[in-house]
Amino acid sequence: MTVKSKVIVLGTGPAGYTAGVYMGRANLNPIILSGDVEGGQLTKTTDVENYPGFPEGIQGFDLMMKMKSQAERFGAEIKRDTITGVDFSKRPFILKSDNETYEADSVVIATGAKPRTFGIESEEKYLNKGVSYCATCDGFFFKGKTVAVLGGGDTAVEEALYLTNFCKKVYLIHRRDALRAEKIQQQKLFDNDKIEIVWDSLVQEFVGDGEKLSAVRVKNKNTEEVSDVEVDGAFVAIGYVPNSQIFQGSLDIDELGYIKVKEYSTETSVEGVFACGDVTEPNYKQAVIAAGTGAKASIEVEKFLA
Ligand code: NAP
Repeated sequence: MTVKSKVIVLGTGPAGYTAGVYMGRANLNPIILSGDVEGGQLTKTTDVENYPGFPEGIQGFDLMMKMKSQAERFGAEIKRDTITGVDFSKRPFILKSDNETYEADSVVIATGAKPRTFGIESEEKYLNKGVSYCATCDGFFFKGKTVAVLGGGDTAVEEALYLTNFCKKVYLIHRRDALRAEKIQQQKLFDNDKIEIVWDSLVQEFVGDGEKLSAVRVKNKNTEEVSDVEVDGAFVAIGYVPNSQIFQGSLDIDELGYIKVKEYSTETSVEGVFACGDVTEPNYKQAVIAAGTGAKASIEVEKFLA
């Protein structure tokens, strides 16, 4: 059976839920499809201290549950499903998941982004055997152990600080001699005795006995010296890639994989299909920005459908 709706939103991060709140209030009865991770990436973080309205901070998971119930309060229907193919060549638009076909007059894409990988064989080999992409999810397993966080952005610094709650020692391995994380977070990192920064180091290999990770092999980019940083766990935090693969060929997408939207707008290259949040945002991946563009997409959908 085909599920029909005036508008379907793909994604349940801040962009998707905010679009849901606005559309619900506009009586559009949106269906929001959650994708694989309901609540998006924020459900995997700990404290969110920079989302306005929560002066004491709020847990990422709690923030997303609040957004969800706000969208539901105004009539959004949230379904756990993942779209695997789309046909945007004519209206109504067709979206397919493994078990369902959806038809919609308008679509809002808020599919976000996923962690970037190094793309080396040993990284996959030791996935869940020491290599992880989420300190909040897996940090607890490394209680009393030594771990490394790989990267130099906000995520890496945040994860390194978080891991000091459980771990004996935390290395932060970064490819340059300066971090790009917020200065206030950098200072917390420098002040923490449990953290040692390994500068100018390029990850070469994840090393172990095949069953369990025992080290991260790095090459110093100045001296070319190769050495092993001995760890029980390694948390990869080297940025994100947009979840836009299923729209390749249907929408204009830039060379980095971000869905192109028109200036000052969330309109994509197909009339009636809008995109918002991190899947369109190469620079400022912030929950509040994603939420703002979700609101914008909703207002544009309303105008389009009218
Ligand atoms: P990011 O800002 O893109 O930083 C990625 C880091 O990984 C950079 O330090 C980069 O090195 C390094 N890197 C990238 N590719 C690499 C590779 N192939 N090998 C080795 N290192 C590599 O990503 P992020 O930290 O995940 O943050 C993503 C966005 O979310 C940012 O806009 C960030 O501000 C935001 N965010 C905000 C908060 C917050 O406000 N509390 C928390 C988390 C994330 P270089 O520095 O050399 O480029």
